[in-house]
Amino acid sequence: MDIQCTPEELFLIKKVAHAAQDAGIEAYLIGGFVRDKILGRNCADMDIVCVGDGIELAKKTASLFQPKPAVSFFKNFGTAHIRVHNYDIEFVGARKESYRYHSRNPDVVPGTLEDDQNRRDFTINALAISLNKDDFGKLLDPFNGITDLENKIIRTPLEPEQTFIDDPLRMLRAIRFAAQLGFHIEEKTYYGIKQHIDRIRIVSQERITEEVNKILMCPQPSIGLDLLYQAGLLHLIFPQLVDLAGAEFIDGMGHKDNFYHTLQVLDNIAPNTDDLWLRWAALLHDIAKPATKKFEEGIGWTFHGHEVVGGRMVPKIFNQLKLPQNEKMRFVRKMVELHLRPISLTKENITDSAIRRLLFDAGEDLEALMALCEADITSKNKHKVKRFLANFEMVRKRLKEVEEMDQLRNWQPPVTGEMIMETFGLPPSREVGEIKTAIREAILDGIIPNNYDEAWAFMLAKAKELNLEPLSGNEKCKS
Ligand code: ATP
Repeated sequence: MDIQCTPEELFLIKKVAHAAQDAGIEAYLIGGFVRDKILGRNCADMDIVCVGDGIELAKKTASLFQPKPAVSFFKNFGTAHIRVHNYDIEFVGARKESYRYHSRNPDVVPGTLEDDQNRRDFTINALAISLNKDDFGKLLDPFNGITDLENKIIRTPLEPEQTFIDDPLRMLRAIRFAAQLGFHIEEKTYYGIKQHIDRIRIVSQERITEEVNKILMCPQPSIGLDLLYQAGLLHLIFPQLVDLAGAEFIDGMGHKDNFYHTLQVLDNIAPNTDDLWLRWAALLHDIAKPATKKFEEGIGWTFHGHEVVGGRMVPKIFNQLKLPQNEKMRFVRKMVELHLRPISLTKENITDSAIRRLLFDAGEDLEALMALCEADITSKNKHKVKRFLANFEMVRKRLKEVEEMDQLRNWQPPVTGEMIMETFGLPPSREVGEIKTAIREAILDGIIPNNYDEAWAFMLAKAKELNLEPLSGNEKCKS
């Protein structure tokens, strides 16, 4: 075998080889699995290409396992899939493709292994391993993919321009592989991308967003995002990010380039989180800076309220990018809205009340918020960074102290809206909201302690101000 596999992988590969031999079909292991094994990366997806019927080979392979795995297949595409020993094995018949200008779905006719290797996106993805009796385990590398793997190069097997015109998703895949593997995109290939960025318009939003997500999950996401920007692709797929780029100067006073600052924040947070949504929060934390930017005489550049405006932009951006409109989106919005809070605490005397408010507002997402805030410190001034980080440690300490004292995380005030309605015989109304907010604020400000009796007494006093009396029999606290 020209690649290093685990005994389990070898066992699975041999099963496919036996099935292919029984069926009299030529078969090859191809694509990402071969590439990743040569690079020493884990990979749980195996792609099998055969000169013949992929669905038949999948069924034959499945029948060699006990218990027999289910075979799912798409007759129209001639593809099939089985899942065994936690590996996903995809089968497809070797094919030759031809593209029409307005679609990235090619016309397909059966072909040879060589035809199939020609239709692959990059030389490093066209490597195949024979599963046939005569040369089992032999690497078939018609485009010098091995050399490109060694030299860390992304290159198309055929003419780059045609490759990207045919299927423009490959432009994003090139950039994503460069970011994921730390590879360099060969000059001609990158030029081919730059020439045809407009073709991205025929790619569905879902496929674009899938690649953006993969770039965000890279060890150093800035590599991919900067390549997208430099190629001009980011302008088409995510113009709001491009609006962050550049620095304006008035009277010799400039502001930082918020695009590169954002990339730095993403790289800073990457080693500390594998949560895609926290990485999205890092990407979007300053998204409203262009919309809120002002030059104020005697002060300089300001971005007042960019966290609030940015928070409001999150649902629109999620909608535009077909990202989920659920609690993930709400989490990102919350992070964007709160991202200045911990750092603002380091500037003033930290009162218990300010700490309590942060604990209450961040709730169970406090750790994520602190990680975002810490990643946001990108100053080049070492002393400033040191001072910020020291202050930040102090905020962490105070948060811990107040949290232990007040147990405020995921806290709900002891007197609820229902209790208020029942006590005063009120329907859901403005007054109920006002009393509820007043109780919460009084506790957060430390005016009353966080307990039921005090909150009850406070409720009665506040209601009195609003000319409300408890219904008879409801005057007493029921603790
Ligand atoms: P990953 O799983 O990280 O996306 P992969 O290389 O395994 O990496 P898949 O999308 O699973 O990617 O595709 C498997 C193989 O199919 C690739 O290695 C490549 O040979 C080929 N391939 C996938 N997408 C394209 C495409 N758009 N154009 C040409 N070949 C492609």
